[in-house]
Amino acid sequence: METWTEPAREVPVAGRPDVLVVGAGAAGVAAAVAAGRHGCETWLIERSSAIGGLATAGLINLLLTLDDGAGNQVVAGLCQEFVDRLAALGRARFPPREQWNREDPDLVAHWRRFGLVWGAPESVRYSVAFDPEAFVDVAIDALRGARVRLRMHCWFAGVALADGVVRAVFVESKRGREAILPGVVVDASGDGDVFVAAGARFEHVTIPPHLWFRVGGVTDGPRGAGFDTLDRGRVLVPWGPHPDRVDACDPDDMTRAELACRVAAREELDRLRRAEEAFAGAWLDDYARMLGITESRRLVGDHVLAKEDAGVRFPDTIARTGHWTRRDVVFEIPYRCLTTPAAANLLVAGRCISTTRYVHQATKEIPAAMATGEAAGTAAAIAAAAGAAVREVDVAGLRRTLRAAGADVGG
Ligand SMILES: Cc1cc2nc3c(=O)[nH]c(=O)nc-3n(C[C@H](O)[C@H](O)[C@H](O)COP(=O)(O)OP(=O)(O)OC[C@H]3O[C@@H](n4cnc5c(N)ncnc54)[C@H](O)[C@@H]3O)c2cc1C
Repeated sequence: METWTEPAREVPVAGRPDVLVVGAGAAGVAAAVAAGRHGCETWLIERSSAIGGLATAGLINLLLTLDDGAGNQVVAGLCQEFVDRLAALGRARFPPREQWNREDPDLVAHWRRFGLVWGAPESVRYSVAFDPEAFVDVAIDALRGARVRLRMHCWFAGVALADGVVRAVFVESKRGREAILPGVVVDASGDGDVFVAAGARFEHVTIPPHLWFRVGGVTDGPRGAGFDTLDRGRVLVPWGPHPDRVDACDPDDMTRAELACRVAAREELDRLRRAEEAFAGAWLDDYARMLGITESRRLVGDHVLAKEDAGVRFPDTIARTGHWTRRDVVFEIPYRCLTTPAAANLLVAGRCISTTRYVHQATKEIPAAMATGEAAGTAAAIAAAAGAAVREVDVAGLRRTLRAAGADVGG
């Protein structure tokens, strides 16, 4: 490949936050709120103007799941707080506790219409349908309350590493290139941009993309497609997958996928209008602004959580998650899934933590992403305050702190 040598240059230093979180998806928001609440100066940078990532801009408006498939809650903490705040705004719908784990066909059918029931045998799960704009509002309030400095329109672009420590994070914006000198960095970019730049080991896969969209003007009655939303007549269509796999880290591939998915989703709406009476007068509300790609790069960290780890209790568990299609499995997520030998002040959260592809199906879900974000933000705050390496954080103390904040870290 032809190359060009870029000249070295001095760049302005934008600031020296204790904790810098990269990516304002569900995981990054949780990480920043958790770090900010511990009193350290926390910055959150986001390449777009969207807060919530796939959970909002991707129109993935379903929290699957907060339970273990047997009627017990296993994700709490900030995720539960968001559900409470959404519910207080009247912008979340979920089965009450007494319905969890019931197999009553009418109840199951009711919640299936919202996209909250998956797998077999079917049962009512503690999963939540929510309004994406309300999720953004709740996130903004939480970030403000935690005194997080949010900077949108700001791309993570690289790191300067010295002696195994990320000394500088380079960002690009309309203002040009700048350096941020953080105490601890949390990579919540979904694609692992920071850990790749830091030289960590990782896996990289391609995946068939989705493009979810919402339509209004859908009439009541039988319907073969789409999930009910909180608004009458508005349906969420989980369109996809497109058969051509996409590499989320290749802009040309992404452009091809964006265009192909858009054409195919439009054709699907036309088809629904023709084929189903309920959709006959429906209109397009919006396509997801973020292509539905759940998997690209995954950290290969200090522990790779694997299928065999189902049900295993780890001494350093910082979060737990059930499985959205299975009722017989709980994964404890050890702190070591967020850490890497590559950099002493780097933590990873959300869908790109260190797991196998199989376990990723559980840990990538929004509740689990928020739980690992909360853990990473809390650990980052502890490490930054102590001036310690993230792998040296006292995990028993971290677990106590998380539990005191309402998180579920197992027994
Ligand atoms: C089709 C599909 C269906 C799904 N269904 C469900 C479901 O029903 N329920 C469920 O709970 N989960 C579901 N998921 C999974 C879930 O939506 C995601 O895994 C989860 O939202 C990931 O959150 P995250 O914060 O880790 O990553 P993301 O949401 O990807 O957030 C990453 C953020 O980082 C930003 N970013 C990236 N690179 C940079 C950079 N270089 N500089 C600055 N910012 C950057 C992005 O703009 C984004 O805001 C689904 C996913 C897909 C794709």
